[in-house]
Amino acid sequence: MERKRILTGDRPTGKLHLGHYVGSLQNRVRLQEEYDCFFIIADLHMLTTKPDAKAISQIGQNAREMVLDYIASGIDPHKSKIYLQSAVHEVYEMNLFFEMMVSVPRLQRVPSIKEMAKAANITEIPLGLLGYPVLQAADILMPQANLVPVGKDNVSHVELTREIARRFNSMYEEVFPIPDVMVGDVPTLVGTDGDAKMSKTLGNAIMLSDDVKTVNKKVRGMYTDPNRISADVPGKVEGNPVFIYHDIFNPNKPEVDDLKARYQLGKVGDVEVKDKLAAAINGFLDPMRERRAEYESIPGFVEEVLYDGTMAVREEARQTLSAMKKAMGLAGVWNSISRKAEKTRKKREKESAQN
Ligand code: ATP
Ligand code: MG
Repeated sequence: MERKRILTGDRPTGKLHLGHYVGSLQNRVRLQEEYDCFFIIADLHMLTTKPDAKAISQIGQNAREMVLDYIASGIDPHKSKIYLQSAVHEVYEMNLFFEMMVSVPRLQRVPSIKEMAKAANITEIPLGLLGYPVLQAADILMPQANLVPVGKDNVSHVELTREIARRFNSMYEEVFPIPDVMVGDVPTLVGTDGDAKMSKTLGNAIMLSDDVKTVNKKVRGMYTDPNRISADVPGKVEGNPVFIYHDIFNPNKPEVDDLKARYQLGKVGDVEVKDKLAAAINGFLDPMRERRAEYESIPGFVEEVLYDGTMAVREEARQTLSAMKKAMGLAGVWNSISRKAEKTRKKREKESAQN
């Protein structure tokens, strides 16, 4: 039996951070033995909020860093297909067909679109941004994915993909599986500034590629309980980003429990809590740093991974698009016109040659 498939990925807007790891990367690493994996570098999705030439000029470098982030996280580039979205043209066509199957009010109800517009200072939503989840449906359905591991902000997009797949299957023929969503252990990781979401664009992120010094500095500057003006004031653990991170990234549970207890009694300084957190995060990132350095130094390695992945995905995309057009009856329309045209032309040429 054929193995089930995963599709997920990230926009090449910068390096990946701890939020990407706990929201999605961890699940990808966990599932890569069991599923055939397709990981998309979604540069067309980047254009929905950043269509300018400067952003486009940075896609290459960002894609490179992201492939290294993937490999550093434990993704095996020989097992998974990592590819560049804009180089797979069939998806543009699939997107157009799917646009006919979803209404504008339905898209206006997708909460993340307004959030993305706000984060990018966009006041009038472009058609392409409104269509963000439609294009995502094309990405997911192109390799006929069964499972989509993402962070919480993407759950509503996968829901729309399921609606589109069902719609297509019932209007024409059963072409697509209905994909399931899988949210990471931490659906949304808070930012170092206490903002609800760690994000590349908000500048509140710890990158997977940050060095020890940078991590120490970022953790030292983290938002904690604002009411705790000195070490002897009892502090709040609940909802405190420093302790949220301790719970996620510090494997030494007795240490975390001890810090929490002393924090609530006003018996520990912020510096000790933060330094222990920085040490834990650095311990978590160390093996990633090693793997990254190993692959970073091989000339052309990342480019070959992307090239091979993209070429393989193009073949998948051709097959799916062709199955779609056949199911819709569109393939037949052109086929019969071209067959008839060729036939009559040949006949005429033969007749005029005889005269
Ligand atoms: P950012 O918002 O930080 O610029 P992004 O949202 O553009 O990053 P995407 O490429 O849109 O990153 O998202 C890639 C994946 O990572 C998605 O599945 C998204 O849900 C997940 N993700 C991003 N940030 C977080 C976070 N803070 N916590 C959990 N998951 C996250
Ligand atoms: Mg996003």
